[in-house]
Amino acid sequence: MAKQDYYNLLGIQKGASDDEIKKAYRKMAMKYHPDRNPGDKSAEEKFKEVNEAYEVLKDPQKKAAYDQFGHSAFENGMGSSGFNRGQGFSGFDFNFGGNGQGFSGFSDIFSDIFSDFMGGGSGRQQSAHKGEDLRYDMSITLEQAFSGLTTEISFRRNGKCKKCDGKGGENKTTCSRCNGSGVINTRHGFFMNQQVCPECNGLGYKIVNPCRECNGTGIAVETKKLEVKIPSGVDSGTRLRVRGEGEAGFAGSEPGDLYIYITVKKHKIFERDNKNLYINVPINFTTAALGGDIEVPTIEGTKADVKIPKGIQNGEKLRLRGKGMTSLNSSLRGDMYLNISIETPTKLTPHQEDLLRQFEEDRKNNGDNKNFFDKIKDWL
Ligand SMILES: [Zn+2]
Ligand SMILES: [Zn+2]
Repeated sequence: MAKQDYYNLLGIQKGASDDEIKKAYRKMAMKYHPDRNPGDKSAEEKFKEVNEAYEVLKDPQKKAAYDQFGHSAFENGMGSSGFNRGQGFSGFDFNFGGNGQGFSGFSDIFSDIFSDFMGGGSGRQQSAHKGEDLRYDMSITLEQAFSGLTTEISFRRNGKCKKCDGKGGENKTTCSRCNGSGVINTRHGFFMNQQVCPECNGLGYKIVNPCRECNGTGIAVETKKLEVKIPSGVDSGTRLRVRGEGEAGFAGSEPGDLYIYITVKKHKIFERDNKNLYINVPINFTTAALGGDIEVPTIEGTKADVKIPKGIQNGEKLRLRGKGMTSLNSSLRGDMYLNISIETPTKLTPHQEDLLRQFEEDRKNNGDNKNFFDKIKDWL
């Protein structure tokens, strides 16, 4: 499938300013964000493409390469062949980010953009050789989200070449053109103009004897096994950053980061809303009328004793303080809410029917004999 032009994807003209590119990206990213289009595969695809386009066009070096060579600029060599391209993160730290609100993805995008606006996003300068960030999607149970877990994941990535240990070869000599800085500064009147050194492509050095295994890139595809620790309290939408476990950088440059995207599976009996848990609890009508003790399951796998107050009504909620979820931001647990529903018996023995008729008779004799229409009159 032919790749769509990055400018077309963002709906802008070639030659658009940085500002126009950011605005267009922001608009498109919001439109196609997975949180806004749940389950929509084509929107998700579009979201990835838009992010890929922005990743290139926001970076002056990559943009220049793209303008000149189009997509082929990234087809081989360093950069863009990750199993899942980074989604435009610029080294912005949102470690254990997701605030559990479900829309954390948005704020991350914006903080990324805003950090660029604010003149942040530093570290992008040498990043032409930095390894790509990777995304790993992990689906866990609600119990695992509650308690946290340590697990081993396995994924393909551009790792370090074993033969040269990622360095790309022997005998590095400092680039004489830029004196090892990787950039060349030229003065235009008051302004300093900085450009990537064309001699060493910004590396600052040249490799005299490039590794024959990796042709001097320092990169080789590998299957990486990694033990990761998922903290308790994560929610769908939480992203965890594992620093330095993305793709290897070019010839020993800084590696990218690995981002673990959490999805918490739906639970059979508990429903989660942030820190709180909800559970439907059916009780029989005699317990509702007389009160009583019941047991309910908890997320930690134990049982909790609950006192049902006399005369509880259908639809009432009972709160069990501190029996809800753990949270990333706080050591306090949320609460568990019991949604009480009262079950009317459908099979009665003749004896039970008898008892209920007696009960009904007694109820009327005690003056509780208003029918529906009498009650309406009271309300009016
Ligand atoms: Zn090598
Ligand atoms: Zn140089």
